[in-house]
Amino acid sequence: MVSIKNLEEVSYMKEAGRIVALTHKRLKSEIRPGISTKHLDFIAKKFIISMGATPSFLGYGGFKASICTSVNDCVVHGVPSDDVILNDGDIISIDIGACFKGYHGDSAWSYKVGNVSQEAQELLKIGELALYEGLKQVKDGVRVGDISSAIGNYVRNAGYSVPLEYTGHGIGRSLHEEPAIPNFGYCNTGMTLKKGMTVAIEPMVIKGKPFTKVLADGWSVVTKDKSLSVHFEHTIYITEDGYEILTKED
Ligand code: MG
Ligand code: MG
Repeated sequence: MVSIKNLEEVSYMKEAGRIVALTHKRLKSEIRPGISTKHLDFIAKKFIISMGATPSFLGYGGFKASICTSVNDCVVHGVPSDDVILNDGDIISIDIGACFKGYHGDSAWSYKVGNVSQEAQELLKIGELALYEGLKQVKDGVRVGDISSAIGNYVRNAGYSVPLEYTGHGIGRSLHEEPAIPNFGYCNTGMTLKKGMTVAIEPMVIKGKPFTKVLADGWSVVTKDKSLSVHFEHTIYITEDGYEILTKED
């Protein structure tokens, strides 16, 4: 269960979050047609370690890479590979976790590769805005369902869908803590969140139907209808009347 953090813990989580944000910045400068997702993983691992942290995902449940790289119809948990080469027009969701002095930061962002279609640009916009719709609800005393319904309603009204199986979560000494924070739900339901808690809010938004399957690699989650998907996530600290984003550069 997610705990209320003291000042020392918050400072560690801020540093973990800052390292995650800087890793995103570093990887964004590498994204171009022709590079492999393994290349991004290599750079991320080296960078996170150089900052005095450890990649949270490496070894998590047996995961063999430091980041998740989910391309096009891959929703989450894409495994970096020498065989996955980025092409002009692709979109790639990169999920990064870093652990600093025992505390985790977790943030995902979707990026375009070269020039992308109008359809992909629109999806990227809706995905990012869905994250902020969820964040807008956050303050001391908010219930999980308030966040979930804000995200779910926004995405549905925009004509897109969210996968049902993958959620945001509490975060701190563990990468994933209770409660789960789904991307759909009802207001005034679920656990009440308090100031001082730290959670990751992370809408995944799918262009087509919400149904997904896991590929034979045991990790990569893809849309069944092969439609595009994006993923936007921040780790935040809940305050009296709002929140502070921890996965930011400063
Ligand atoms: Mg994540
Ligand atoms: Mg997460």
